[in-house]
Amino acid sequence: AKVRVAVLFGGRSAEHEISLLSARFVVEALDRDRFEPVLIGIDKSGRWLLQEEALLLSAARDPRLARLNEAMPEIALDAHPGPAGEAMLTVPGGSRSPIDVVFPVLHGPTGEDGCVQGLLELAGVPYVGSGVLGSAVGMDKDVMKRLLREAEIPIVPHVTLRRAAWDRDRGACIEQIAALSAPGSAGFGPIFVKPANLGSSVGVRRVKARSEIEAAVEHAFEFDLKIVCEQGIEGVREIECSVLGDDDPIASVPGEIVVGHADGFYSYAAKYIDADGATIRIPADLSPAEANAVQLVALRAFRALEASGMARVDLFLSPDRALYVNEINTIPGFTAISMYPKLWEASGIPARELIERLIALALERGARKA
Ligand code: ADP
Ligand code: MG
Ligand code: MG
Repeated sequence: AKVRVAVLFGGRSAEHEISLLSARFVVEALDRDRFEPVLIGIDKSGRWLLQEEALLLSAARDPRLARLNEAMPEIALDAHPGPAGEAMLTVPGGSRSPIDVVFPVLHGPTGEDGCVQGLLELAGVPYVGSGVLGSAVGMDKDVMKRLLREAEIPIVPHVTLRRAAWDRDRGACIEQIAALSAPGSAGFGPIFVKPANLGSSVGVRRVKARSEIEAAVEHAFEFDLKIVCEQGIEGVREIECSVLGDDDPIASVPGEIVVGHADGFYSYAAKYIDADGATIRIPADLSPAEANAVQLVALRAFRALEASGMARVDLFLSPDRALYVNEINTIPGFTAISMYPKLWEASGIPARELIERLIALALERGARKA
């Protein structure tokens, strides 16, 4: 019998649209002779299984996502009544039998942070990717950095700030943040202000003057009660490495994001909207020793952060060639132009095999727990 794979997509986060495109990629990559996809959408208000066809296809019509969609073929979907008469999405010919494994393709809070993973644990269904702990740690940039530091993995100087502290003494907080400005730089070195729990650069601002700190902090607090402020690296190169596995994870060849914007900030617009916002270079232009160092540190970060199955580890390379881990993404983008699948393709694992391996890892882990 075919393995029934529930692809869980959409979600309430700011990365909803990206999730739709990632889900389409995963469904496309499934070998239909061996797997039967079952699509489960979560709409922006958090409703499950109440999806009309428009949900998955709306992204295709959103002109802001044109760049991603160019690379994405349409997939045909059937809408039919679910058990309670609600609209359900399935792929044509699909059944509604119980599922064997869930592939969460949700980005950001509630989908990537352990909430859904906890639900799946309770339901006793195997699922692709990190468990509750690894997911939660990977989503929280503050806790992530504390664990990286504990593992002696190089990270950029930063401070964590909570809403309550900000409300209590704004001036002292601004003082603390301004002190992150790089000592060597002429004038004010850039500082990055980010919500602790988010992704896709949503809520992230690059602060170029002390006077901009307050607005950036207020902006980041619109998305989370905790924020992370970081010393900006000028002339930074952004290197990414894909990791795959559980007990013996492997690292892909490193890739590089070449940001088109003058300030070199890989913003939401640069990621998904502007045609010339960013280009991907695979493999990254590194010496063999540097590429090796990237892979080793990516694997160390993967383990230190309790990740499993898959993750994309993002690194910074400074002009003086120091390497830092920026973050881990436990459910990396899976669109046709996303780094995670592209790096595996360049490392000899094409999309179809990658998805199969991820599902096999989930089933193995499920069998071990049972
Ligand atoms: P997200 O999880 O939203 O992707 P990141 O921490 O990766 O958040 O920040 C988004 C982007 O902001 C990075 O890809 C990079 O372009 C820029 N950035 C973030 N922190 C720094 C930093 N310390 N120095 C230079 N650039 C940074
Ligand atoms: Mg991220
Ligand atoms: Mg990032």
